[in-house]
Amino acid sequence: MKKEGTRGLLLVYTGNGKGKTTAALGMCVRAVGHDWSICLIQFVKGTWEYGELKGLRRLEPNVELHVVGEGFVGIVDDNKDFDIHRQAARKGVALALNKLQSEDYQLVILDELNVAYSLGLVTRDEIDKILASRTRRQHLVITGRGAPDWLIEKADLVTEMKDVKHPYKMGIPAQKGIDR
Ligand code: ATP
Ligand code: MG
Repeated sequence: MKKEGTRGLLLVYTGNGKGKTTAALGMCVRAVGHDWSICLIQFVKGTWEYGELKGLRRLEPNVELHVVGEGFVGIVDDNKDFDIHRQAARKGVALALNKLQSEDYQLVILDELNVAYSLGLVTRDEIDKILASRTRRQHLVITGRGAPDWLIEKADLVTEMKDVKHPYKMGIPAQKGIDR
C-alpha cells in the first residue's frame, strides 16, 4: 500500500438498504464540530423531510442547504415533466460546480445524485465535471441507490447499505424521527 498524505476524498453511499442520506447527515454534524462550511444539495426529491430540514437549519450558518429536485419523477416518458426535472437537475449541477470551485466549502454533499443519474436527469459528463472541479482538500459525498460502476471506481470510500430488514416490509409506514 502506497502512503500518501491526507487529501479531499470522494465518498459514495449507495445500496438498497436504509441509511445513505442518514450517513451524509451524520457527516454534516461531525464537520460542523470542526467549524467547516458544508454545502448540501438535494437532487430528485422535491423537499427535504421536515425533521432533517429543521435539524439542518440549526446547523446554520455552517450548513448551507439547496433543494433542486422537483419532486419524485413519475412518468419519465412524459416529455414535459422530464424537461422540468432535467432543468432542476441542471441547476443542481451548476450549483455543485460553483460550490466546489469556490474553496469556501470543505464538504459538499450531493444527496440522491446517483438516482438523478439513473433517471437520466444528470449525465456522466456532468458528474465527471463535478468530480474534476473539486479542489485538493475538499471532500465530496454522493448518495443514492444504484451508484454506477465508473463512479465506484473513482471513489476513495464506498459503502453499500444492505437491506437486511426494513419495517416497511412488515407494514409499518415511514415515521417521524426515523424516516423524516
Ligand atoms: P435515509 O434517508 O433514511 O437514510 P436512504 O437515503 O438510505 O434512507 P433512500 O433511497 O433515499 O434511502 O429512500 C428514502 C426513504 O425510503 C426513507 O424514508 C427510507 O426509510 C426509505 N427506505 C430506504 N431504504 C428502504 C428499504 N430498503 N425498504 C423500504 N424503504 C426504504
Ligand atoms: Mg436518501
